[in-house]
Amino acid sequence: MRLLVTGGAGFVGSNYVRWVLGHTDDHVVVYDALTYAGHRESLQDLDDDPRLVFIRGDVCDLAGVTAAMEGCDAVVHFAAESHVDRSIVGPDAFVRTNCDGTNVVCDVARQLQVDKMVHVSTDEVYGSISEGSFTEADRLAPRSPYSATKAGSDLIALAYRATFDLPVMVTRSSNNYGPYQHPEKLIPRFTTNLLDGLTVPLYGDGLNVRDWCHVRDNCAAIDLVLRRGRPGEIYNIAGGRELTNRELTDRLLALCGRDQSFIQPVADRLGHDRRYSVDAAKITSLGWMPREDLDEALAATVAWYRDNRWWWEPIKQAVMAKESS
Ligand code: NAD
Repeated sequence: MRLLVTGGAGFVGSNYVRWVLGHTDDHVVVYDALTYAGHRESLQDLDDDPRLVFIRGDVCDLAGVTAAMEGCDAVVHFAAESHVDRSIVGPDAFVRTNCDGTNVVCDVARQLQVDKMVHVSTDEVYGSISEGSFTEADRLAPRSPYSATKAGSDLIALAYRATFDLPVMVTRSSNNYGPYQHPEKLIPRFTTNLLDGLTVPLYGDGLNVRDWCHVRDNCAAIDLVLRRGRPGEIYNIAGGRELTNRELTDRLLALCGRDQSFIQPVADRLGHDRRYSVDAAKITSLGWMPREDLDEALAATVAWYRDNRWWWEPIKQAVMAKESS
């Protein structure tokens, strides 16, 4: 099979490309705009694989997406603006890439009659839940510009199924962690700060709850949906390990050999959702289960950032230079 992977130079996308090339005979075309969040270096270890082709392009560019998708059997659509804090400061880019871009990808997939498409989404589209977990049948109640544009993109994809019979499936995963995640996100940001002897900014009372799913588990789930999922269906994905941000921070402090004095409480994020939780029974019935143990995988993740400064230091310096300019 020949796959088009949009956003394949980002965190989850690059891990997915690595997963596919490592587990299958498939060929992969990565299509990525290389925004501040995309890095060619995240695929560097795969460069010698003749099955990988990289094309730099924008998902909002109809001609570019069409050229990239020609000859592909399936599409896995990761490309998105993905950082909630950035969506609060500037929602426009999120509407453009997440909604317009998804429309273009679906439209081209329909025109070219690809066999399958997976639209990669997030548990954040359901909004916050104080007890229990959302199923795929629950209504969407996104509250940040990021999650609202992802909910919009889910509805666009599902509308292409209902209207044009596009064989598209939607995945909604909880928070991922692992290698190659941009150091603006919680785990890499806190880890790289602590490795450098800097404090970590903890939002509000630190009691917001997130489920953590290792990126390899999410990639395996997405790939299972691609190969065995039913068109038009939505699949929640969860690691099954919920932690408050405070509990997660304590683990990172311990792994980096730092004490509580490295926590710097900061004003809470605007509209900060208290708890996300999704029920993953549906994808479990397809034969998936999370394989990574949180404590072991978190330790391995911290070790990866400790050993791979070449990857994150230039990215972090570029972000800091922009913030101070
Ligand atoms: P990321 O920000 O690390 O990567 C996004 C990638 O998309 C980058 O390589 C970027 O260059 C590319 N991109 C952005 N705008 C583009 C455009 N207009 N055209 C082409 N490429 C563009 O994000 P991520 O964490 O890897 O998330 C990937 C997908 O998974 C997103 O759709 C996100 O909503 C979803 N998701 C992520 C998580 C998570 O914890 N990281 C959890 C659930 C769902």
